[in-house]
Amino acid sequence: MYTVSGGDAEAVALRGGRIAFVGSVADLAGLSARRVIELEGRTVLPGFQDAHLHPFSGGMLAIVCNLHRTASADDCLEEIARYAASNPAREWISGDGWSMDFFPGGRSDKERLDAVVPDRPVYLENRDGHTAWVNSRALELAGITADTADPADGRIERDSAGEPSGALHEGAMWLVSTLVPPPTSAEQEQALLNAQAELHALGITAWQDAVVEPETLAAYLAVTERGQLTMRAEGNLLWDRSRGEEQIEDLLTMRERGSLGRLRIRGVKIFQDGVLENFTGSLLDPYEGTDNRGMSMHEAEELRRMLALLDSHGFQVHLHTIGDRAVREALDAIEAAQEANGKRDARHHLAHIQLVHPDDQSRFAELGVVANAQPYWATHSRYVDVLTLPFIGDRAAYHYPFGSLVRAGAPLAFGSDWTVSTANPLPQIEVAVTRILHPERNTEPMLPDERLDLETAVAAFTRGSAFVNFLEDETGTIEQGKLADLVVLDRDIFDTGAGPVGDARVLLTLSEGEPVHDELA
Ligand SMILES: [Zn+2]
Repeated sequence: MYTVSGGDAEAVALRGGRIAFVGSVADLAGLSARRVIELEGRTVLPGFQDAHLHPFSGGMLAIVCNLHRTASADDCLEEIARYAASNPAREWISGDGWSMDFFPGGRSDKERLDAVVPDRPVYLENRDGHTAWVNSRALELAGITADTADPADGRIERDSAGEPSGALHEGAMWLVSTLVPPPTSAEQEQALLNAQAELHALGITAWQDAVVEPETLAAYLAVTERGQLTMRAEGNLLWDRSRGEEQIEDLLTMRERGSLGRLRIRGVKIFQDGVLENFTGSLLDPYEGTDNRGMSMHEAEELRRMLALLDSHGFQVHLHTIGDRAVREALDAIEAAQEANGKRDARHHLAHIQLVHPDDQSRFAELGVVANAQPYWATHSRYVDVLTLPFIGDRAAYHYPFGSLVRAGAPLAFGSDWTVSTANPLPQIEVAVTRILHPERNTEPMLPDERLDLETAVAAFTRGSAFVNFLEDETGTIEQGKLADLVVLDRDIFDTGAGPVGDARVLLTLSEGEPVHDELA
């Protein structure tokens, strides 16, 4: 058993949903128990906490067109055709999960989509949710033509004649996504329950939902009121770029409504840039061979005002920051908020942190900002090697610099960004330690100095995420008196003879002592 707070222990006893005892087997002698589990080489860890994910997109995959298991454009077209045929009543074909590297230059085309679905509109987001693949019918319904200007915060991909070619980036996605009929409330509630069951089976007992909207908040509340929310859920409300500071009233109202049972609404999510693969990640210096520095969604001064406002209302701010300029602007805004409002225990956090300029790496510790990292992405892969590294040049030296951030004292939390990539914490912990592509395990480590040791990686998925979730007094370590949110693995991941960490399996997940996933019964 690995407690995270104080090394190993032999035994743990639970009572009334809490940890009643941690220590040696001998000290347990004489206690009577309703259920005794002999570990016999298995490990107990604190339940995993995912600091950034999208449970509703995950849970909806059983309902929409799911392209997450495809490996090529042809795979996608086959699945889209199958889905369209088996869902004849759906007015729109919508879903997600394709990957930019399926297309030359990352540019998805409308023609092949038209060939499979000519009559109904199609809207399919890629794996990272920053680009949509649409067919001609969808472009037509949205009124997007060669004459349509790009929105300020996005781009319509075009062919050499200026015609929309079937890819919409960032803010341009909204031109079509707002036309897609939203899921019904029954579908939303089912999606939440699907996600919860799937993630409990992976040992997750708490999550931070990166974007909670009015519809998904309603689903959380309905499921909580029925006593079915067994996940500790921290929610972030979305800062709507199309509105101004007056939206603070709505955010406050939703926060007020959104604290019930295991649900807390404490955060506001701000997107400060896009992603590097489509050149919308915001950089201090231009992408190699271009004069394009990417896209900061908010001017530095505007971001400072937003941060100060949200901070003054006690919100925790969760920023999407990919490029080194977005990271710096976010840190500057947090620093300015502290100057304006005084430094409080705010635990603002920066998610993704793909490029963190060396000058900014120590500022996380200085400002008390949590580095919310997605360790699974920090490897060489076709995606990174073709679509990212050639365009960042020397900046590849500080690409996902998690080891440097830890050495500079940054508080570290891990999240999957599911459904962008796997929600399973064990392969993510493996990659944090190896920086080698999973599951192929056939690449060189990417920046070996940025690898973490296993203790640090496990702590980032337990105590570290508990900290950013404001749950560290009750969860995140195995200590007497804390809630019995625990996971049992099939092996001791600290035993180097036990095989790769990512191959370990979860056998039992407990939420306040109650099994929410149980293969041992
Ligand atoms: Zn995300």
